[in-house]
Amino acid sequence: MMKTHTCGELRESHIGQTVTLAGWVNRRRDQGGLIFIDLRDRWGLTQITVNQAETPEAHVNANSARNEFVLQVVGQVVERPGDTKNADLPTGQIEIIAQEINILNTSKTPPFYINDDERIVKEGLDESLRMKYRYLDLRRQKMQRNLMLRHRVIKFIRDYLDKQAFIEIETPILFKTTPEGARDFLVPSRLQPGKFYALPQSPQQLKQLLMVAGVEKYFQIARCFRDEDLRGQRQPEFTQLDLEMSFVEREDVMVLNEGMMIALAETIMPQKKILQKPFPRILYKDAMEQYGVDRPDIRYDLRAIDISDLAGRSGFRVFTDNVEAGKPVRAIRATGLAKGQSKTGLKNIAKEMENLARDAGAKGLAWLSIPEDEEGEVAGFIGKYFTVDQKLELIETLGAEGGDMLFFMSDSDEVVQAVTAAIRPVLAERLGLLDPNVLGYCWVIDFPMFIWDEEEKRWDPSQHMFTMPLPEDLHMLEDKPGETRGSQYDMVCNGHEVAGGSIRIHDREIQEKIFPLIGQTMEHAREQFGHMMEAFEYGAPPHGGIAWGLDRVAAILAGEPNIREVIAFPKTQTGSDVMAGAPSPAEDKQLDELHIAVRELEKET
Ligand code: ASP
Repeated sequence: MMKTHTCGELRESHIGQTVTLAGWVNRRRDQGGLIFIDLRDRWGLTQITVNQAETPEAHVNANSARNEFVLQVVGQVVERPGDTKNADLPTGQIEIIAQEINILNTSKTPPFYINDDERIVKEGLDESLRMKYRYLDLRRQKMQRNLMLRHRVIKFIRDYLDKQAFIEIETPILFKTTPEGARDFLVPSRLQPGKFYALPQSPQQLKQLLMVAGVEKYFQIARCFRDEDLRGQRQPEFTQLDLEMSFVEREDVMVLNEGMMIALAETIMPQKKILQKPFPRILYKDAMEQYGVDRPDIRYDLRAIDISDLAGRSGFRVFTDNVEAGKPVRAIRATGLAKGQSKTGLKNIAKEMENLARDAGAKGLAWLSIPEDEEGEVAGFIGKYFTVDQKLELIETLGAEGGDMLFFMSDSDEVVQAVTAAIRPVLAERLGLLDPNVLGYCWVIDFPMFIWDEEEKRWDPSQHMFTMPLPEDLHMLEDKPGETRGSQYDMVCNGHEVAGGSIRIHDREIQEKIFPLIGQTMEHAREQFGHMMEAFEYGAPPHGGIAWGLDRVAAILAGEPNIREVIAFPKTQTGSDVMAGAPSPAEDKQLDELHIAVRELEKET
């Protein structure tokens, strides 16, 4: 090794030893006869002192060194003089008096500050620059921490599951379509002209086949590929903890995964607080009604409460007409939002929320504020349509108190849900309820098996086509597909889906019933999934599983808003790797070998 110690390792106990360190120049301060260098490696920083009078050769090298030069330093560990000790730095009690400095490599001036995360947070950092020089971006302390955290997450999972008799099995990347609702990436076959592999959107089929193979407890840290439009946080390739078990019911899979998630979070991030243990379980229909989404952020309440009955008795035409037409009226209580607000302040808040509601498809958003004291008045124009008794009933139903602001939504169920989803997080932010140190885990269960696709006029699987209907709903599968619930379970944290799975169909007959419902001809289904159906005829055990979005889990634990921050080499929004320049055109020779011709792009557009 070119170093005897790391740059984060040396303490007072090493004083007197001669050591060799190697790393990058984090910062250099030139005080004439003395040069100070903070040498950095993955483990930390150590101060090197170079004295011109005593070690002139070392001083010459130190003098020419610049930020990010790669140095090897031989020197003696000494105690720092009293007032230069740095309590903020683990190695801050000592410094190295350099005897020898070797420049192992020089560096151009980096395009951004690698050594100053605080400055980067303050000034921001151009994303495309970060991506172009990702290898420098990853040198930053924060990114090194994230890489380490991700490693520890994966290591923890492997050890945990190993102890529970799971085995990790790799499944192929070159495979056949394994749909999860996205587009496939295709890879042309050279050996079989005109044929294509599909990159797996998940190892779903393969893990189920491993259950037929008698593995019983499988997992894999698996790369998945989905050719989707890269809105928001998506990456075309991402990592799952993929897991499957035989002879289990829904409860078994949920309990195992909940235990593992709790143990993981408490080991990796003990400073974060898990809001509720065991994780609350929310029915899909309640999640949609109360939170407007199937991945509720339960760190804050702000749920939409149904007040259709009461609102239907009010004098407000919009409400009474809607209730008569079977449309809901729901209210959200924003605790304390009206506190200290002037009339104009209230109106401004209401306006902001109304704009969000309109963007979500509503015609408006009614509101009321409850006065902070007896003398105050209820503000908000719909107040006059409720009698005093009705207002009291409303306050009681919502548990409202002085200083609260209430928002009322009434429209079709879908619109009310969309408005709920749009305004909850904004209200939470205003009220300071988005605590980053709280992990609000919950389960969402009893999803519908299918969601109606109006455009294609067919049912889409709400999870995927291998999900087993709930046993008590199985009889409805063909006649009332829209009412059939699936055995799907999603684990959610702080409003993000972190894992999703289900008990699977292990019976060929049931599987065959699914295909026509989701608009697949039997012929096509047999072509694509004949191997699955055949496998189910050879003693397929009852089985179920789950997959965690590992990038998301790591990002949440790291406190990072974007999964890019925990992926070493992510893609940009256009699916590019700007560092290497991928995707890129293929050479004619390669295309010829693959029997592929690229059409003139101009003609296409
Ligand atoms: N394959 C599913 C997914 O990628 C997870 C599962 O059902 O296990 O979402």
